[in-house]
Order: sequence, then structure tokens, then C-alpha cells
Amino acid sequence: MLKCRDIERMAGQLQDDELNWRQRFSMRMHLMMCHHCRRFVRQFAAIKKLAERSVSEQASDDEVQSVMDKINDPQKG
Ligand SMILES: [Zn+2]
Repeated sequence: MLKCRDIERMAGQLQDDELNWRQRFSMRMHLMMCHHCRRFVRQFAAIKKLAERSVSEQASDDEVQSVMDKINDPQKG
């Protein structure tokens, strides 16, 4: 069974499609049980999306703010 630490390490690989089905399955099982990691993965995805956008085009202040709000106050998210 994966630990929270493993999920944090694998989050980047998940976004980059570097995990095989077995790793994805293990990760999904953990996310079903672990509220902390669900939040972590969601925030990770939001940040990465924003980072990719800001390379090709300028992210608006509103977009940056909405991600920062999610990080500062995950309950809203
Ligand atoms: Zn966890």
C-alpha cells in the first residue's frame, strides 16, 4: 500500500503520464481513502496547468489568484 509520501512523489509522474497501470491503480486506491492526498493531487494539477500556460501565454492575475486561493484555503476548492 502506498504512503502519502509516495503519492506526493508520484504526483508529477502522474501528470506527465509516466506511471504504468499498476502504479495508477495503487495511487487511485490511496486517493479514495486519503483526503489529504486528494487535495494534494488536485492542487498539484492546478499549479502545473498554470505553469504550463504561463510559458506559452501570460496567465491573468485572476487565474493566478484563483490557484493561490485554493492553496491557502483548500476547503473552498
Ligand atoms: Zn495520503
